[in-house]
Amino acid sequence: MMYQSTRDASHKKYTAAEVIKMGLAPDGGLFIPETIPALTADEITVLCNESYPVRAAKILGKFLTDYTYDELLSDCTAAYCESSFPGGAAPLVHVHDNIYSLELWHGPTAAFKDMALQIMPRLLSRALVKTGETRDALILVATSGDTGKAALEGYKDIDRIKIMVFYPVDGVSRVQKLQMATQTGDNVNVTAIYGNFDDAQTGVKNIFSDKTMAETLDKEGYVLSSANSINWGRLAPQIVYYVSAYCDLLSKGVIKMGDVMDVCVPTGNFGNIFAAYIAKLMGLPIRHFVCASNKNNILTDFLRTGTYDRNRAFHLTMSPSMDILISSNLERLLCFTAGEDATAAYMASLKETGAYTVDQAVKSAISENFSGYFADECATAATIQNYYKSYNYLPDTHTAVALSAAEQYLADKGEETVPMVVASTASPYKFAADVYASLSGGENLPKDPLSALDQLTEETGVAIPYPLCGLADREVRFSKVIKAEDMPSAVLSYCKG
Ligand SMILES: *Cc1c(COP(=O)(O)O)cnc(C)c1O
Repeated sequence: MMYQSTRDASHKKYTAAEVIKMGLAPDGGLFIPETIPALTADEITVLCNESYPVRAAKILGKFLTDYTYDELLSDCTAAYCESSFPGGAAPLVHVHDNIYSLELWHGPTAAFKDMALQIMPRLLSRALVKTGETRDALILVATSGDTGKAALEGYKDIDRIKIMVFYPVDGVSRVQKLQMATQTGDNVNVTAIYGNFDDAQTGVKNIFSDKTMAETLDKEGYVLSSANSINWGRLAPQIVYYVSAYCDLLSKGVIKMGDVMDVCVPTGNFGNIFAAYIAKLMGLPIRHFVCASNKNNILTDFLRTGTYDRNRAFHLTMSPSMDILISSNLERLLCFTAGEDATAAYMASLKETGAYTVDQAVKSAISENFSGYFADECATAATIQNYYKSYNYLPDTHTAVALSAAEQYLADKGEETVPMVVASTASPYKFAADVYASLSGGENLPKDPLSALDQLTEETGVAIPYPLCGLADREVRFSKVIKAEDMPSAVLSYCKG
């Protein structure tokens, strides 16, 4: 299995180890597999009786053909072990009627990005060996909160790797900030920037495409690599959750082999939902994808009109991991639907004018699979309250956006419903202050975000997950804030230091 760039019509090929090491293609495009491997009904039946690590190793094996099955099984077993994911990696919880919550947040940072970032460093470590790399890897991450912490936990103290995380100083929750500022490990750095997530992400992308920077780092003995969801090594492990959810629906007797399910994903960078789409292309019976957004509903507008236009206000919401105006992984869907030349043109237009419009044919092809819905702050809060009161289910703010979108979709659709698997992407405790405020209808607000953890557990009796216990007592190691334009020099001084 070889890979190619979304912007390269000449289809230059790369191995999986190369694309995991490189992150972004040399032309600025994203790596995609040249073909999609099949997943047969017989294979799904076999996976039903397997543990999550075995399901993961078998699916990854179809994409990472330059890794042996034993390597993948050993990495998946270590990544998804009981001590990191107490109670299992991706449990499927029945919430009400046809709504199922695929809880992806039982890992070391209580957010779904752990699912990919516990395995990705192990894949990168092997990629350095497989590609004969003599330099060490420098991981640069732009984060809107959850990726940063999950990457830090995944890469800390891994041999031959340094990691540097940038986050928007006012764009993450107090808990997220504390989680990152208190990160342990000798190979980690965390730096805040003035600006929003897109400024941080653009800063990282610019460093990746800067040739002089690459030469300087090369002299220092480093090769750049990314842990953002643009890296194929982040995306591939996410395909597994949806296969796993389907197996669980089969095992629970909710569906029979071949029956379809719908999937709804709270979306930011379009990574998670794109992984679900790949599962469908492989043969997993998924009927439709609901792309859920918060008030930053650029994807809802794109899916409804065919125009992607980032010339609009940027809102800070209580679901900050979805506060995004450039949804990078959408480029992969565009490439699959419209081809490399059209994708390169759309991306050039996005860069020059901040917008692009896809052809009518491309728009209809996308609409066959995807619908966009959004929940503003009010609808999100109401959903949290309603799900807790009516179904005794406590969703976090991002999951609530998705639950609201799923219900809107079902109301519009009005035809026979099938199981709707809603990706639940964070523990409610990760956003405890907003969840608590939503429950109490805005009265009786928590004194501060940290005491909200205790108040929420008192109110609901739901236990605080292990990664968030005792946060206030940990030592703060990183408190620097810099301008986005100073990111390159911060990177160099960290490497030299
Ligand atoms: C990252 C994140 C998302 C968005 O996922 P994408 O793959 O970027 O679309 C949603 N919810 C939470 C809690 C996240 O951390």
